[in-house]
Amino acid sequence: MNTSDLAAKIVKQDRRALSRAITLVESSRADHRAQASELLDQLKGKGKQAIRIGLSGTPGVGKSTFIESFGTMLTGQGFRVAVLAVDPSSARSGGSILGDKTRMDRLSRDPNAFIRPSPSQSHLGGVARRTREAIELCEAAGFDVVLIETVGVGQSETVVAEMSDLFILLMAPAGGDELQGVKRGIMEMADMILVNKADGDLKSTAIRTCADYSGALRLLRKRPQDPEGFPKAVTVSALEEQGLKDAWDEMTKLTNWRRDQGHFDSRRAEQQRYWFEEEVRQALLARLEQGAAKQQLAKLGDQVAGGGLSASKAAAEMLATLRSNDDRSN
Ligand code: GDP
Repeated sequence: MNTSDLAAKIVKQDRRALSRAITLVESSRADHRAQASELLDQLKGKGKQAIRIGLSGTPGVGKSTFIESFGTMLTGQGFRVAVLAVDPSSARSGGSILGDKTRMDRLSRDPNAFIRPSPSQSHLGGVARRTREAIELCEAAGFDVVLIETVGVGQSETVVAEMSDLFILLMAPAGGDELQGVKRGIMEMADMILVNKADGDLKSTAIRTCADYSGALRLLRKRPQDPEGFPKAVTVSALEEQGLKDAWDEMTKLTNWRRDQGHFDSRRAEQQRYWFEEEVRQALLARLEQGAAKQQLAKLGDQVAGGGLSASKAAAEMLATLRSNDDRSN
């Protein structure tokens, strides 16, 4: 199928076409890359601007249970919901989050939902680009909400926060000590914290944990993109489907405020800039992994390790080599 046929079908909300298109953007074959880029150009400005919600949390906190019940609530309200994943572990383990669709049994059978597992790629940078492109495809296909799930480990949170309009942390009820272990940087990225499992025996702990997080969030620097009272923490029970509507109301309140104030669009614009710079950075780093540059890096590294050359002299020499490689190829 040529890309304009595919584009036309995506705009008509054809799910198989959307799946095919995502497969295309996930491919690293040069001809597929060229088609993917043509397709994305054709779809620019089509469909609608979805709310992109990044969702992060440690394994076992209830992400898939939450997506299942929250997603189902949204489709029940008439919204169309797409679920994507950024999985830093898939390259290593060979498996992937969302890979097992039974995790979201109800939602995966819902005609107004679309679930796509994380592409398995060795580089988080590669996964990031493919996920960003998949988000654009979902918007072209008219989805109202795009949920992007990630496991709360290391870099993947930044990656997901930089492609989301709202970044949500899902947390488990915990004692005060554990709370202190939550990295400040991650708290600063969060637009909302949802303390999950606020049910049964865990309910009172969840309420206390939520109060602790609320306190911690209040201590953070006020951000211009937040109205009074945000970022905030609320309790939910994904299992018993409690608090989900309130959480959604808060998310829409925040989004509407940001839209009115112009922060929504300016955040997206800044994200575009971030990804542009990130791709340049990644491409420059990739050059160090190739051919003569790689050998030179290893050679100079040996000299530095052996004590024969200082780190900064070696770095200057390495950069000079890269520059002369550039001159020769120009
Ligand atoms: P994920 O690894 O973050 O995707 O977590 P899962 O959604 O697979 O949930 C891990 C475990 O926590 C499962 O046994 C769920 O049934 C349980 N769980 C998830 N949400 C809740 C909740 O709201 N309340 C309670 N009590 N258990 C939950």
